[in-house]
Amino acid sequence: MSYKDTYRHKGLRKKLVETIRAKGIKDEKVLSAINSLPRHFFMEKAFEEWAYVDKAFPIGSDQTISQPYTVAFQTELLQIKKRDKVLEVGTGSGYQAAILALLGARVHTIERQEELFHKTNELLGMLEVGNIRTYFRDGYKGLPEFAPFDKMIVTAGAKEIPEALKNQLKIGGVLVIPVGDDNVQKMYRITRISEKEFKKEEFANFRFVPFLKGTNKK
Ligand code: SAH
Repeated sequence: MSYKDTYRHKGLRKKLVETIRAKGIKDEKVLSAINSLPRHFFMEKAFEEWAYVDKAFPIGSDQTISQPYTVAFQTELLQIKKRDKVLEVGTGSGYQAAILALLGARVHTIERQEELFHKTNELLGMLEVGNIRTYFRDGYKGLPEFAPFDKMIVTAGAKEIPEALKNQLKIGGVLVIPVGDDNVQKMYRITRISEKEFKKEEFANFRFVPFLKGTNKK
């Protein structure tokens, strides 16, 4: 497979960044990461035309690559600093993980769909975008052997906030997670204030594929 990033792609990406900026994303570092990462590398070649439309898109195994605006929104809430140890639940296409890595994070990302895990693992290995480690696991349990994390991001819609994830946050650490039913989820930012205290902030509504328990081997 060859990965070409043409002037045309770059031009389309610039427009996409302006669209996202117009929707309210202010963090220049986040916008510049989106501007520099070819989103079409994370989608099937046949659907390349859709890569620079601000929409979620199917990537197989019943899953989607998140809408660029959503990626930007969650990433902005995380306020990534260089060398932050970040856990992502829901690797999917690997796009969000790559954005985090471009911002200098040390990324650990978990996927429960085996097929998708293998496909994305291979892609990320090939693209060599920063520091990303992938795991085929149930993200509900987090990644205890690498805890505690500075930041955590869940990219699937959760019914509730898994205790295991909260417990794997550093004091001062932040978890960004969409919570709701199957149709709509509200974005939350949870900050761990102390061993037992958490601050909870509420943001806009989004729609994600469901956060499911267990792994799905194929
Ligand atoms: N961050 C992804 C978005 C993927 S969609 C991207 O940038 O493309 C959400 C992903 O979460 C799906 O791939 C789904 O399989 C995965 N997922 C759902 N429940 C999970 C769980 N318990 N553990 C790990 N991954 C999960």
